[in-house]
Amino acid sequence: MDEYTLPLPLITTLSKVFWDGCRENKLLYQHCKDCGRVIFFPKHLCPDCMGHNLEWLESQGKGRIDTFTVTYEGAPPAFMGVTPYCVAIIRMDEGYRMMSNIVECDFDELECEMPVEVAFVPVTEEITLPKFRPARG
Ligand SMILES: [Zn+2]
Repeated sequence: MDEYTLPLPLITTLSKVFWDGCRENKLLYQHCKDCGRVIFFPKHLCPDCMGHNLEWLESQGKGRIDTFTVTYEGAPPAFMGVTPYCVAIIRMDEGYRMMSNIVECDFDELECEMPVEVAFVPVTEEITLPKFRPARG
Protein backbone atom coordinates (compact mmCIF):
# COMPACT_ATOMS: atom_id res chain seq x y z
CA MET A 1 0.00 0.00 0.00
CA ASP A 2 1.52 3.35 -1.06
CA GLU A 3 1.53 6.07 1.55
CA TYR A 4 -1.84 7.81 1.46
CA THR A 5 -1.48 11.59 1.60
CA LEU A 6 -5.06 12.86 1.28
CA PRO A 7 -7.10 13.97 4.30
CA LEU A 8 -8.53 11.08 6.33
CA PRO A 9 -11.83 10.87 8.20
CA LEU A 10 -11.74 11.49 11.94
CA ILE A 11 -12.87 8.40 13.79
CA THR A 12 -15.07 9.05 16.82
CA THR A 13 -16.32 6.50 19.36
CA LEU A 14 -19.64 6.59 17.51
CA SER A 15 -18.32 6.36 13.94
CA LYS A 16 -15.74 3.69 14.84
CA VAL A 17 -18.37 0.98 14.31
CA PHE A 18 -18.93 2.25 10.76
CA TRP A 19 -15.20 2.46 9.96
CA ASP A 20 -14.48 -0.95 11.51
CA GLY A 21 -17.21 -2.31 9.24
CA CYS A 22 -15.62 -0.76 6.15
CA ARG A 23 -12.33 -2.40 7.06
CA GLU A 24 -14.16 -5.73 6.88
CA ASN A 25 -15.84 -4.71 3.59
CA LYS A 26 -19.18 -4.22 5.31
CA LEU A 27 -21.18 -1.04 4.77
CA LEU A 28 -23.09 -0.35 7.99
CA TYR A 29 -25.90 2.04 8.78
CA GLN A 30 -28.23 2.54 11.68
CA HIS A 31 -31.92 1.75 12.02
CA CYS A 32 -34.29 3.04 14.70
CA LYS A 33 -36.09 0.10 16.27
CA ASP A 34 -38.79 2.42 17.64
CA CYS A 35 -39.91 4.30 14.52
CA GLY A 36 -38.17 2.47 11.65
CA ARG A 37 -36.11 5.41 10.38
CA VAL A 38 -32.84 4.55 8.65
CA ILE A 39 -29.94 6.72 9.79
CA PHE A 40 -26.64 7.78 8.29
CA PHE A 41 -24.09 9.26 9.28
CA PRO A 42 -23.96 7.56 12.73
CA LYS A 43 -25.95 9.25 15.47
CA HIS A 44 -26.60 8.68 19.19
CA LEU A 45 -30.29 9.56 18.86
CA CYS A 46 -32.92 8.99 16.19
CA PRO A 47 -33.45 12.36 14.49
CA ASP A 48 -37.17 11.60 14.05
CA CYS A 49 -38.33 10.22 17.40
CA MET A 50 -35.28 11.08 19.56
CA GLY A 51 -35.16 7.45 20.68
CA HIS A 52 -31.97 5.68 21.74
CA ASN A 53 -33.08 2.31 20.46
CA LEU A 54 -30.77 2.19 17.44
CA GLU A 55 -29.28 -0.89 15.83
CA TRP A 56 -26.57 -1.37 13.21
CA LEU A 57 -27.50 -3.13 9.98
CA GLU A 58 -25.40 -4.10 6.97
CA SER A 59 -26.27 -2.42 3.67
CA GLN A 60 -26.29 -4.40 0.45
CA GLY A 61 -24.01 -1.65 -0.86
CA LYS A 62 -26.23 -0.73 -3.79
CA GLY A 63 -27.87 2.54 -4.69
CA ARG A 64 -28.29 5.21 -7.33
CA ILE A 65 -26.55 8.49 -8.00
CA ASP A 66 -28.77 11.30 -6.71
CA THR A 67 -26.45 14.05 -7.89
CA PHE A 68 -22.73 14.42 -8.61
CA THR A 69 -19.98 16.80 -9.62
CA VAL A 70 -16.65 16.15 -11.30
CA THR A 71 -13.75 18.40 -10.33
CA TYR A 72 -11.26 18.95 -13.13
CA GLU A 73 -9.52 22.05 -11.72
CA GLY A 74 -9.75 24.43 -8.81
CA ALA A 75 -9.63 21.58 -6.29
CA PRO A 76 -8.75 22.30 -2.65
CA PRO A 77 -4.95 22.14 -2.19
CA ALA A 78 -4.95 18.64 -0.71
CA PHE A 79 -6.79 17.25 -3.74
CA MET A 80 -4.94 19.06 -6.54
CA GLY A 81 -2.90 15.98 -7.34
CA VAL A 82 -5.89 13.68 -7.85
CA THR A 83 -8.04 15.56 -10.37
CA PRO A 84 -10.27 14.76 -12.05
CA TYR A 85 -12.41 13.19 -9.34
CA CYS A 86 -16.12 12.74 -8.82
CA VAL A 87 -18.04 13.48 -5.62
CA ALA A 88 -21.58 12.17 -5.55
CA ILE A 89 -24.58 11.84 -3.28
CA ILE A 90 -25.69 8.23 -3.45
CA ARG A 91 -29.25 7.23 -2.56
CA MET A 92 -28.88 3.80 -1.05
CA ASP A 93 -31.47 1.08 -1.64
CA GLU A 94 -32.08 0.97 2.14
CA GLY A 95 -33.31 4.58 2.00
CA TYR A 96 -30.43 6.70 3.28
CA ARG A 97 -28.02 8.94 1.41
CA MET A 98 -24.27 9.12 1.62
CA MET A 99 -21.56 11.21 -0.03
CA SER A 100 -18.63 9.48 -1.65
CA ASN A 101 -16.48 9.28 -4.75
CA ILE A 102 -17.48 7.46 -7.93
CA VAL A 103 -14.53 5.47 -9.25
CA GLU A 104 -13.67 2.87 -11.92
CA CYS A 105 -15.66 4.65 -14.63
CA ASP A 106 -15.54 7.17 -17.45
CA PHE A 107 -16.81 10.40 -15.87
CA ASP A 108 -18.40 11.42 -19.19
CA GLU A 109 -20.79 8.47 -18.84
CA LEU A 110 -22.05 9.36 -15.37
CA GLU A 111 -25.65 10.41 -14.99
CA CYS A 112 -28.16 10.89 -12.21
CA GLU A 113 -30.07 7.71 -11.32
CA MET A 114 -27.20 5.51 -12.53
CA PRO A 115 -27.06 2.33 -10.40
CA VAL A 116 -23.85 2.08 -8.38
CA GLU A 117 -22.34 -0.36 -5.90
CA VAL A 118 -19.86 0.07 -3.09
CA ALA A 119 -16.16 -0.48 -3.84
CA PHE A 120 -14.06 -0.66 -0.69
CA VAL A 121 -10.67 1.04 -1.04
CA PRO A 122 -8.19 0.42 1.78
CA VAL A 123 -6.00 3.52 2.17
CA THR A 124 -4.30 2.99 5.57
CA GLU A 125 -4.16 0.20 8.15
CA GLU A 126 -7.13 1.80 9.95
CA ILE A 127 -9.15 3.35 7.15
CA THR A 128 -10.94 1.69 4.25
CA LEU A 129 -12.97 4.19 2.26
CA PRO A 130 -16.37 3.14 0.87
CA LYS A 131 -16.34 4.48 -2.68
CA PHE A 132 -18.79 3.57 -5.44
CA ARG A 133 -18.55 2.32 -9.02
CA PRO A 134 -21.17 1.68 -11.70
CA ALA A 135 -23.13 -1.46 -10.75
CA ARG A 136 -22.05 -4.61 -12.53
CA GLY A 137 -25.42 -6.23 -13.06
ZN1 LIG B 1 -36.86 6.75 15.65
